[in-house]
Amino acid sequence: MSTAAELLRAAGLPQLEARILLMHVLGWRRTELITRDCESLDPDTVARFEALAARRLNGEPIAQLTGTREFFGLEFDVTPDVLIPRPETELLVELALEAIAGTPNPRVLDLGTGTGAIAISIAHARDDARVWAVDRSVEALAVARGNAARLLDRNAVTFVESDWTANIDPSLRFETIVSNPPYIASDDPHLAQGDLRFEPRGALTDDADGLSAIRAIIGTAPFLLTANGALWIEHGYDQAQSVRELLAARGFTDVRSVRDLAGIERCSGGVFTA
Ligand code: GLN
Repeated sequence: MSTAAELLRAAGLPQLEARILLMHVLGWRRTELITRDCESLDPDTVARFEALAARRLNGEPIAQLTGTREFFGLEFDVTPDVLIPRPETELLVELALEAIAGTPNPRVLDLGTGTGAIAISIAHARDDARVWAVDRSVEALAVARGNAARLLDRNAVTFVESDWTANIDPSLRFETIVSNPPYIASDDPHLAQGDLRFEPRGALTDDADGLSAIRAIIGTAPFLLTANGALWIEHGYDQAQSVRELLAARGFTDVRSVRDLAGIERCSGGVFTA
């Protein structure tokens, strides 16, 4: 018979990760893990924990093992078909909310929605917003639809299978367009390391210089923006200047970059007046 304390010690994992996996298997809260740490656990629980711990040691991301990740205060279902929501992407949601503040019944377009984290967080924070969320991955859209159905109490997000803006009704206009596109260059060694190995490659890299998806989005976004509509894009730590140049060259004004909590210029955006 093993106890929680013994399992955590023997897991060979960072303790925070071991605790998350054990809480997931037991359905316990953090306080129970402390107060009940000397109870004998049944063999089935022990086996399930040990199987997850072994998969984690093999590199699988925690969010895929528990099937969930918190983002903007909401609990999103995660599968290997979608990018795991990152804390720095909450900045993109904040920028979108700022851009639509003061506009009643705003329309927002999220390009490459994955879990739906960005689109659903915006719709959750703004009762009167309507959000269109696109992905070219049918599997990702299924995950995102499930998240929207569980997390939103109204039908606020329209999901569209589309390669960027290709299948968006060209008569629609949006006050704000946001995107966290694949921006890792195809030769970046990080793609072959750590948790990234288990995430969908198409959500991480453009299989080019890291800027090709961003170029495509900046190129077509103006056709779908309202007058003075805003475009905000998340990008890599060293891409801010390039993205600002692309925005300015396309005719965006008020072009600026915003730093994430780590102090990295993480999102760039601008306004399209014409
Ligand atoms: N922020 C992710 C990472 O560096 C990349 C996600 C993306 O390409 N949009 O792991």
